[in-house]
Amino acid sequence: MTNNDLIQHINYLKDNNIFYSKYFQDHVDCNTIEEIYSNMPVITKNIIEDNIREYITKDFMPYMDSKSLIDIFHDVKHLSGNYDREIIDNEKRWFLESTTGSTGYPFTVLKTSSEKLWESKYLIEKRKTIDSNANMKNGFLLLEPIDPILKKIRYRSTLEMDMPLIFNHLVATRPRWILCTTLVLRKLYEFIINNNFVDKVRDLRISFIETTSQKLYDYEIKEISECFNSRIINQYGCREVWNLGYDCLYGNMHTNNQYIKLDLVDNNGNLIEKSNALGDVIITSKLHKSFPFFKYYLGDAATLSYEKCKCGNESPIINLCGGREKDKLINTKYFGTEIFRKVLRGIHYKYSYYNLTKIKIIQDQPYHITVYCLVDYNYRKEFRKTFLEISSFQIENFDCFQISFFYTYPYSDENEGLKPEIFTNIL
Ligand SMILES: [Zn+2]
Repeated sequence: MTNNDLIQHINYLKDNNIFYSKYFQDHVDCNTIEEIYSNMPVITKNIIEDNIREYITKDFMPYMDSKSLIDIFHDVKHLSGNYDREIIDNEKRWFLESTTGSTGYPFTVLKTSSEKLWESKYLIEKRKTIDSNANMKNGFLLLEPIDPILKKIRYRSTLEMDMPLIFNHLVATRPRWILCTTLVLRKLYEFIINNNFVDKVRDLRISFIETTSQKLYDYEIKEISECFNSRIINQYGCREVWNLGYDCLYGNMHTNNQYIKLDLVDNNGNLIEKSNALGDVIITSKLHKSFPFFKYYLGDAATLSYEKCKCGNESPIINLCGGREKDKLINTKYFGTEIFRKVLRGIHYKYSYYNLTKIKIIQDQPYHITVYCLVDYNYRKEFRKTFLEISSFQIENFDCFQISFFYTYPYSDENEGLKPEIFTNIL
């Protein structure tokens, strides 16, 4: 995204988006584009939800007020397997895609069909930089599948049981490339090794495997690419705008500079300009106009490097760092911030009647965790049971931990800065 694109996009928002027209009424824009951009506020999910009617396009359900819009966005009962919903309004097709906020609560964004089309078009272009013959038809999509057989698989629950089905279908269809999450790839790899299917899979000559959502360790990349005899390509994306970064043939992940401007900010939301300095990811998309993302806070910890890459792509190289020391769940292989978000997502989606509004999970001793939370008085016991059950399912050695529950919330979120985290270790 060039400076010219940025100027055009800011002008678009100023003229068409109520939230930003108001912002520019109070902020005179006689500065340079760099100054205007750097002064504009970092936008969090909370800011968006607090201003939802002004923030999204007037064309979507114009007769609805903020509260009714939030009800529609928070409705998780009608989601498809991909956490999507389709709504026809104003003679237009709209797509609602849900992701999770920092407390695991669903956060939904709005897209038009054309915005979605451009997102997938860009990804196909990136895949063609790895293999010019790759397309959606010759891909084995284990993520947002199209194939009726792959659509039936329950990726979040009985994946292991379905592995023979996945593998047989892979062999039968002989795809050119594979798309899957890191988790699915790990399971598929295990299945192949345990069943001595390495020769069978090498015979398929898969050109590349695109993984997303989590980083593989270097040793895993080596083992898995040897097993498949193909290249592993890492894709950094999010539900909001899809692609943010894609590996090049030299193994560097370049940021998406076609429709995204990706920057890092410090805890106070100030831009970090220095090469290789750690910060939180914010993104601006010139593509998404109905539900804009402008200096939108994603919060992934990363560094950016501006050195030249042999592949010729001049966009910065991003290195995702997983998380910080205080985010680690000590004595496990997990980041508490990530794993407990997953646990809470399960609770929010299935047991919304617990009415869990606040939670803070503190690892205060090597094998002791204190949970402070606000839940419906009548469901405290049940919440405790569910929390422990889902945690044991998600966290390998969770049973080694002692957990204390307090049904109070002695924290003030105002001091939390941009990212109110649900987990921290104070060791
Ligand atoms: Zn490169």
